[in-house]
Amino acid sequence: MKISRRDFLAWTVAAGVALNVEFNLDNVNNVMAAETDPPIIWLQGSGCSGCTISTLNVTNPTTIDNVLLNKISMKYNSTLMTASGDLAMQTLDQSATQYKGQFILVIEGAIPTGASGNYCVIGEVNGVPLTMQQAVLKYGPMAKYVVAAGTCASFGGVAAAAPNKTGSSSASSILSGKTTNPVVNLSGCPVHPTVIIQTLLDLILIGMPAVDTNHRPTKYYGATVHSTCERRSSGHCYEDEGCRGPYSQNVCSTLKWNNGQSWCVHNNYACIGCADPTFPTTPLLSGAD
Ligand code: SF4
Ligand code: SF4
Repeated sequence: MKISRRDFLAWTVAAGVALNVEFNLDNVNNVMAAETDPPIIWLQGSGCSGCTISTLNVTNPTTIDNVLLNKISMKYNSTLMTASGDLAMQTLDQSATQYKGQFILVIEGAIPTGASGNYCVIGEVNGVPLTMQQAVLKYGPMAKYVVAAGTCASFGGVAAAAPNKTGSSSASSILSGKTTNPVVNLSGCPVHPTVIIQTLLDLILIGMPAVDTNHRPTKYYGATVHSTCERRSSGHCYEDEGCRGPYSQNVCSTLKWNNGQSWCVHNNYACIGCADPTFPTTPLLSGAD
């Protein structure tokens, strides 16, 4: 099903209203009138590509193919794009150069710094390997906004778990003091699809969001999953089993996953705190033996 650009933006406004976001309709109209949206360049470092896959799960009320083909100008994402080799790397650099100061850089996965960054090479330029660390340091300062998609990019996550032999680090650590705007962290393992898509649209339509002490948008990370958990008064709470819901801010118990179908606790498992700066802990459930 194809929907119009106007329908799509109407949805973003409706979603924003549902999340208590105030939209400036002048900004909406400006974006609707623009021939092109500020493009998005999406780099993937040390991760599992799960955040890209999660993003693909936005299907209601529109499908991700419609988002990517008609609504967001995605210039580079090595999982989604068909280009490869020199063509891909040229597209990356030309897009960043052409839209310097305008584009949104999304960083997925942590950034290895060990071995001069060579634990993660994202391509070659003139036969010379380009590490994720080099790419982030080059394109981060050129971007208008930088978004860390997922816990690995936000805080190091699984990639930086002890003993962290690769020296993996978060996007905000690598880019500290080097960006036009502070890195927006969208933690979660993976990031929730509505959170990433809506944040990209918010940046285009509104600008920088209000953030918490972990630089995450407060409208998505302002409440713990515990605060609206269906098991709070049911007598079947997982707190004694080590559920991290009381300490974990995310949208799971409100927006849920898989098109609003379910979430961890609804699926009969405790929250393991996948959006926390300390994730992954050992053991995953703090009350477990
Ligand atoms: S199951 Fe977890 S999130 Fe739900 S009420 Fe119990 S401690 Fe809170
Ligand atoms: S309920 Fe907890 S572990 Fe599950 S997705 Fe949400 S934050 Fe992550």
